[in-house]
Amino acid sequence: RVTVENLWKSYGDQTVLENINFVTEPGSFISLVGPSGCGKSTFLRMMLGDEAPSKGRILIDGVALEAEPSPDRGVVFQKYSVFPHLTALQNVMLGLEFAGSPIAGRLFGRARRQARAASLEMLQGVGLEQSANKYPSELSGGMQQRLAIAQALVKKPKIVLLDEPFGALDPGIRAEVHEIMLRLWREEGMTIFMVTHDLSEAFKLGTRVIAFDRRRTRPEELKAYGATVTFDLMVDGKIIPPR
Ligand code: ATP
Ligand code: MG
Repeated sequence: RVTVENLWKSYGDQTVLENINFVTEPGSFISLVGPSGCGKSTFLRMMLGDEAPSKGRILIDGVALEAEPSPDRGVVFQKYSVFPHLTALQNVMLGLEFAGSPIAGRLFGRARRQARAASLEMLQGVGLEQSANKYPSELSGGMQQRLAIAQALVKKPKIVLLDEPFGALDPGIRAEVHEIMLRLWREEGMTIFMVTHDLSEAFKLGTRVIAFDRRRTRPEELKAYGATVTFDLMVDGKIIPPR
C-alpha cells in the first residue's frame, strides 16, 4: 500500500507539486496523467527515491520512503533504459545488480547460475528468449521496451514505475507490449505507476487514473473513459471521486 501525504515539490521558487494526497491498494495499476510539466516525472523520481520531497512524504506499507534507490522498486523510461554494450541477457542480469543484491557481474558458481536462470526466465516472460545473446541495436523498438521491462521486473519489485514506457511504439506493437505488461502485472501482483500522455492507454491499462492538475486537465475528457475504471482528480491536493 502506497500512501502519499501532503507531498510538495519545489525547484527554487517554482512549485511543481502542490499538496498531493492519495492512497493506493496493493496490486493497483495507477495511470498518472496531466499536462506536460505538471510534475508526473518528478513524482516518479520521488517514488524511486532519486529525489526527496520538499514537504510531506511517501509511505510504502506504512514505512516512510528514504531518498535512496531500493530493491522494491523497478523502473522503465520511454527510451534508453537498456545498455547498448550489453546483451539482452546481460541487461536483465544487471537488473538484479541494481537490487542491491550481490553484483551479478561478479557472481560466481551457483549464485551466478541462479541469476542467469532468473534472467532467462524473465526474458521468456517477455517473449525474448530467442534474443538473449543479441545486443539492443539488433532488437526492434518494441523488443527493446520488452527488454527494459524484463530488466525492471527481474528482481520482482513490489512497485514498478513506468514513465511513458510505450510512447515511442507504433500502435500495433504498443498493443502487443500492453498485453505483456498486463499479464506480468496480474502474475506478479505488483503495484504499477504509469505516466502516459495517451488517455485511452491510461484507461485501458489502469485500474485507477489520477489526473495531477485539474486546472489544465478537463474533467469531461476523463469522464468519457470512466465506464470501466475509477478515476480521480486532484483538486487542492485532495482526491475528488468520480460522480
Ligand atoms: P512531461 O509530460 O512533459 O514529461 P512532467 O509532468 O513529467 O512533464 P516534470 O518533468 O516532472 O513534468 O517537470 C515538472 C516541472 O518541474 C517542469 O517545469 C520542469 O521544468 C521542472 N523541473 C523538473 N526537474 C527539475 C530540476 N531538476 N530542476 C529544476 N526544475 C525541474
Ligand atoms: Mg515527464
